Amino acid sequence: MQLRIPGPTPCPPEVLQAISKQMINHRGKEFGELLHHITAKLKELFQTKGDVFLLTGSGTGGMEASVVNTLSPGDKVLAISNGFFGERFTELAEEFGAEVKRLAFDWGKPVDPDAVHQALKAGPGIKAVLVTHNETSTGITNDLKAISAIAKEFDKLVLVDAISSLGSIDLPVDAWQCDVVATASQKGWMTPPGLAMVSFSSKAWQAHAKAKMPRYYWDFTKAKSYLEKGQTPWTPAVSTCYGLAAALDIMLAEGLPNIFARHARVANMARQGVKSNGLSLFPDEKYASNTVTAVKIPEKLDVSKLLQILHKEYNIVLAGGQDILAGKIFRIGHLGWVTEKDMEEILKALNEALPEARQP
Ligand SMILES: *Cc1c(COP(=O)(O)O)cnc(C)c1O
Repeated sequence: MQLRIPGPTPCPPEVLQAISKQMINHRGKEFGELLHHITAKLKELFQTKGDVFLLTGSGTGGMEASVVNTLSPGDKVLAISNGFFGERFTELAEEFGAEVKRLAFDWGKPVDPDAVHQALKAGPGIKAVLVTHNETSTGITNDLKAISAIAKEFDKLVLVDAISSLGSIDLPVDAWQCDVVATASQKGWMTPPGLAMVSFSSKAWQAHAKAKMPRYYWDFTKAKSYLEKGQTPWTPAVSTCYGLAAALDIMLAEGLPNIFARHARVANMARQGVKSNGLSLFPDEKYASNTVTAVKIPEKLDVSKLLQILHKEYNIVLAGGQDILAGKIFRIGHLGWVTEKDMEEILKALNEALPEARQP
């Protein structure tokens, strides 16, 4: 089957084999070695010398950990949003009592760095900037490098949802001065769901020392002290850890530049293929993501029929639109374990299925 939704993504055989291993003592030496091995490799892939924590939970847990470990109720934050996941980050910060200043863009439009500059200039007392690197709901990659540079001009803490970009699209965490960056195992990491991975800079630790938001499960003071002993505070998703370790070996063997280049090639194929099938991209192609392609649904296309034909007759699973984009777009996930050959197959099937799904 071709599972081409933006997560969970397919797992290579090495990962599937790894997750079937017998349980071990999560307070024993063997797990300690596994955790150190995973953490060291994650740091290479995050391109950071700072801390990286392996948390048991989904990506949203990583987003929550980012917020509660750095902020206090009443702290002013600039929450940038241009889609479903930007809204989630915004709501999360509000829920924990941050004083949120929203900077929202239309879904399908990229974040405008100049507007970020304006908002920071106009809003003294802002402590942190919340931003989504790759907006999975609209198929857009925001210019995080520029956004982060602006935030740093104003000396703000930068919290990033990079759940569907890190490990697939270049995001040099230290070079771009991103303080807290979250991702999750089921996206570009070719691993089953169950783990969030979050980097934490020294500036983030300074914020942490004063951060008063309620936290227990996600407390990084606990995570750090346990990590030093080769443990996690709570029982980790051991099988997913086995899988991630195997996936990280595959990723490092391929090498970051090759991974990014492969995602760029496959994404480009997807975009050109969609267009040559008479469809158009939802976002401006200039900002189109290399991990997920969002396609506009034209008037005479029955999209549920299209997705059903692809599933039933071709064994290909694509994603619909979320929230206000339901019925407006469909999405092809191409992150993690994906090659040009896979994309060729998907585009060929799309080409064959489209006439049948078009309404007269
Ligand atoms: C998938 C995704 C999430 C949510 O992750 P869960 O693992 O479902 O909690 C958040 N942000 C982005 C950008 C995502 O792609």
